[in-house]
Order: sequence, then structure tokens, then C-alpha cells
Amino acid sequence: MNLFDDMIKDISAELDRLAPTECARLAEPSRVWRDVGEHHMILASEMAYELGGQNTLGLSGCFYTTQPLLSLGGVYLYGSDLAQIQANRSYARIVFVQLEETGDEEAQYRKFREIDYVRYHIHPEGYMARISPVSQREPVRIARKALAEKKMSFGDIGQMYLGRYEKISGVCNVNVIFVTHEKFDYRALEQKLGRAEQITQSLSHIFTDLNMDCSTCSQKTVCDEVEGLRVLHFGQNRRT
Ligand code: SF4
Repeated sequence: MNLFDDMIKDISAELDRLAPTECARLAEPSRVWRDVGEHHMILASEMAYELGGQNTLGLSGCFYTTQPLLSLGGVYLYGSDLAQIQANRSYARIVFVQLEETGDEEAQYRKFREIDYVRYHIHPEGYMARISPVSQREPVRIARKALAEKKMSFGDIGQMYLGRYEKISGVCNVNVIFVTHEKFDYRALEQKLGRAEQITQSLSHIFTDLNMDCSTCSQKTVCDEVEGLRVLHFGQNRRT
């Protein structure tokens, strides 16, 4: 399933537009960052700053493909690492996942959902992501103590996400990309994330709803605009 390929290409081009010196593939840390196991609160008085706080944007999203990713698997950072940031700023956590091509679109869709749910089950110490299930916003509070005493970095956090994704069967390659660069177009990314969510909702309809009448379907606008969705739905029906 390659419905997200154009978005992966566009986002990669936008990242490439930043100076190459601003991109680093982060080395795997020698330690494993602690997962506190459940949602934990970092109070405003305990935080160093908030990525996506106040007038800045905090975004996250996953994109899937069965085509080979252009970059090696790993954690990438465009911009400053956690220790260099002094105040609230815009931020994005983008995940590109390459899945095994099995020819079974429904199984791939279920895999997408499994990968997406990972974010609800990761609770890094000192890193409180406030996930919104209805938007692509994901502001993150960073604890002052985790920076000062434990030198928390994106390498620590990214490796935690990467490890969870890589455990899921059928995942061939993953890029976990953190962006804090001030010149990145966060608004454009937000639009793409909204589009990806619309496509995901259409896929949900295709694989779970019996309505096959496009004229009355709530997903009609998306299916009119995104090549492949309608073919997928009617091809799916022929198989069942
Ligand atoms: S193909 Fe038609 S019925 Fe299926 S999700 Fe799209 S608009 Fe709805």
C-alpha cells in the first residue's frame, strides 16, 4: 500500500531543504532510557520548556510505505537537541515506516493501526507527550531534572520509539525523525498530517463498514481526491 508515498517524498524534500549540517543520524545511546510505565505529569513548575507550548506547534505523525525508505533505519535530528534548547519552540516527531509487501491490504492497514498505537504506550521519564487523538498536535513537556541530572537527549527518546516499532512483525525499516529547526515549515507539515489522517479514516471505513455507496459515503471527498482508495475499496469487496 503506497497511499502515503507522495507525502513521504514531500516531507523528505522539505527536510533536505534545511542545511545538511543541521541533520544528524543519532548514534545509539549506550544506556536504555527509563519508561515510567504509565502517564506521568510534569507540572509547569517542573519543566524546562514545552516543545509546542504556547504560541509554538508540536506535531507528530506516522507515514507508511512498502517501498524502500531512502534513509537507513535509525533516529534523525534536524535542529537542536534537548540540551541546547532554552525555551518553548516548535517541534515535530515524524515516523516513516517501511512495511513488508504482502499483497494483503487489510493486514497492512491493521499493522498501521498497531504501529500508531505505540505512541499511547510509551512514557519516557522526564518527557511528557500530550497526545491528541483528534488532531496531529503533540506538545511535549521536558522536565528540568531529566535534562540537568540525566542529560536526556533525543537519542534516548528516539531509541525507545525505534525499539518498539522494530519489534512489530512485518516492519522492515523505520526512521524516527525529530525536528526542532526554526526554518522548518511546521504549518505545511500539519496540513499533510491532516491529510494522512483523512486517508486513514477512509481506510478504516473501507475495512470495517459495509456501505459501498459512494454517493452517500462520508469519505467521498477524500476518495475523489486520493488515487487508489476507491480501487482499494471495490477490489476489497470483490475478495470478500
Ligand atoms: S470508495 Fe466510496 S464507499 Fe468506499 S470509502 Fe470511498 S467514498 Fe466511501
